[in-house]
Amino acid sequence: DGPVIIVGAGHGGYQVAASLRQAGFSQRICLINDEAHLPYQRPPLSKAYIKGSAGPESLMFRPEKFYQDQKIELIAGRAVSIDRAGHKVLLASGETLAYAHLVLATGARNRLLDLPNANLPDVKYLRILDESDALRAIMPSKTRVVVIGAGFIGLEFAATARIKGLEVDVLELAPRVMARAVTAEVSEYFQERHREAGIRVHLGVQATSIEAEGGKVTGVSLSDGRHLPADLVVVGVGVLPNIELAAEAGLPVAAGIIVDEYLSTADPDISAIGDCALFASPRFGGSLRLESVQNATDHARCLAARLTGDKKPYDSHPWFWSDQGDDKLQISGLTTGYDRVVLRGSAANKAFSAFCYKGETLLGIESINRAGDHMFGRRLQGMNRSITPAQAADESFDLKSALA
Ligand code: FAD
Repeated sequence: DGPVIIVGAGHGGYQVAASLRQAGFSQRICLINDEAHLPYQRPPLSKAYIKGSAGPESLMFRPEKFYQDQKIELIAGRAVSIDRAGHKVLLASGETLAYAHLVLATGARNRLLDLPNANLPDVKYLRILDESDALRAIMPSKTRVVVIGAGFIGLEFAATARIKGLEVDVLELAPRVMARAVTAEVSEYFQERHREAGIRVHLGVQATSIEAEGGKVTGVSLSDGRHLPADLVVVGVGVLPNIELAAEAGLPVAAGIIVDEYLSTADPDISAIGDCALFASPRFGGSLRLESVQNATDHARCLAARLTGDKKPYDSHPWFWSDQGDDKLQISGLTTGYDRVVLRGSAANKAFSAFCYKGETLLGIESINRAGDHMFGRRLQGMNRSITPAQAADESFDLKSALA
């Protein structure tokens, strides 16, 4: 019993606070927010928000009144250290906050490009609202963008930039786009679709330098000796989890803040959730760090339940989505470690799903413009059930029958 202090007011941090109140938690809740906005949704930053003209308020989870009504104290500032013995968090302002339980929901930050000229104003990143606003503001004055990194965010931005009339080149070191996250079938589909839209996708190459004149970007040189002209560079080469606060407080960290299946760090009074957490997963038999809204919000709900007396291990079924141009990719489960991919539907019709199996076990489904398959996957896998590869491949097999 006592105050809960939450560091980070992103998807995870906001949800812990909201879920605690929903569960009847009556003690003080402070949400430490180092961004100059009310807590907001991140996915539209590279999708609808950057494409459209809606204001920042369209992204907010809740208006300011919600926090007042719910007595959730939004504290503008940055946590700089944790005094574990004294149960206190120190903010950059010098203020200290006492906690009974501390939640680290610090998320992740952009991995920065280590190249000459990478700090010029025309080299942009896309993680926070201010960065999306900055890009939206300068795009109309730009004609050619080089996107470095063909992950979800790089490709979502590339598709939007093309729709807005820019010339677009995408560079990717791996032999296919989104290589770490999706099957070859899905990579190939998106490569083709982006090329059809007029985006030049360069695979197996790296940016070696950014050229500039008078502080303005003029192009990007590639590892294969080519040079691409550009007046804008957007970097999407992944993120680094924000683990330093935990590490400096002596908590174990690796590729994330290490937590057990209850999302507790080695200190029972400190938990970590969302993008920053490397959590033990009985479901997947190992440690995972995931970067998704589902992961952050379900972690938050699981933790809020524990803090209000309903202690259960975290065991939610993962899912994810990405919108690129007119195509919607949705992933149910974790599609890594498969040895067989079965397709349902057809790429030619721009609607198919890749069912990923290890032996006869369904690991996950990547669906393109097949929302029904995706929802089926979430329900089926949520029930810890499977269908056979032959059933998945057979379009006449009624998926609903497997849910009965
Ligand atoms: P975050 O939402 O990153 O929040 C962490 C917050 O903590 C940040 O505001 C950070 O500034 C703050 N913070 C860090 N350190 C401190 C400190 N010391 N003191 C105070 N505050 C601190 N996921 C999907 O599932 N689908 C999508 O389509 C999708 N699209 C995305 C598009 C973009 C452009 C981005 C950037 C991400 C996208 N994601 C998507 C990923 C998803 O947004 C993240 O997984 C999710 O935001 C993680 O939530 P979180 O609370 O762990 O971290």
